[in-house]
Amino acid sequence: MSVNFVKCNSVLITGASRGLGLQMVKHLVGISERPKKIIATARNPATAQELQQIAKSHPEVHIVPLDVVNDVSIEAAVQKVSSIVGPAGLNCLINNAGIAIVSDLNSETRDSMMKTFQSNTISPLFVTKAFLPLLRAAAAAAVCDGGVMCVNRAAVINVSSVLGSVQLNWGKGAVFKVYGYRASKAGLNMVTRSLAVDLQPEGILCTVVHPGWVQTDMGGKEAPLTPEESISSLLAVVSALSEKDHGQFLDYEGKNLPW
Ligand code: NDP
Repeated sequence: MSVNFVKCNSVLITGASRGLGLQMVKHLVGISERPKKIIATARNPATAQELQQIAKSHPEVHIVPLDVVNDVSIEAAVQKVSSIVGPAGLNCLINNAGIAIVSDLNSETRDSMMKTFQSNTISPLFVTKAFLPLLRAAAAAAVCDGGVMCVNRAAVINVSSVLGSVQLNWGKGAVFKVYGYRASKAGLNMVTRSLAVDLQPEGILCTVVHPGWVQTDMGGKEAPLTPEESISSLLAVVSALSEKDHGQFLDYEGKNLPW
């Protein structure tokens, strides 16, 4: 399976300053089947040196400031993106930005749980709500080949984690005891499923994905996957999503994960 966004007008990625978000941009600019517009958002573009370098040699990359926990920033980003995509709307929103605060039963605090929920659970919902008019415009303007749901038309892809699976947090799977992070991703899974219920009649695909355990600042050096390995596979899965994947929880190889 290969990554193919050639019929997709626009993709927006949150948290594209580093890690998996940056790797998504790098991968897309490196293939000929890329979307026409790659909107790479970062809360502080000035410090996102590598992203700036990519944008310099790739006019299809548009860097837009977006701090996902800040409603003023979200509104400004919607205006900017609206002027970039025009009446075609936004086809694919990838809510990738997230944080992880290491915590166990002893060390978890109200503050760190609230902060984690703000970034990982609440923000993807409010970013999606803000971009809905642009997603709706895309759903009305674009079509899928042989189906009704796809990233070429309109889609919300939420980057979650296997650590958000309630079922897998048991026995051998219960190794990372990160209360806030696990709960925030379980919450994101439910947010995605609820969005899937609400947006189904409008043909807007909503899927939640796990990128694997990856060598980034968050994943650490001991992770088994490189960002290239994770993202080449994840983007291949995402670019091939259809209505059968709507409201589902998939890993980077396209396998269904238990909630
Ligand atoms: P990193 O910590 O390497 O990067 C996180 C990214 O999110 C950065 O670009 C960061 O921006 C951005 N970000 C954080 N908070 C905000 C905010 N308020 N507004 C805008 N951007 C923000 O993490 P990864 O790349 O590894 O993770 C990406 C996603 O994948 C996350 O949702 C994570 O939970 C998920 N994931 C990662 C796994 C892994 O093994 N790496 C495993 C499973 C899931 P800045 O540079 O400004 O801080």
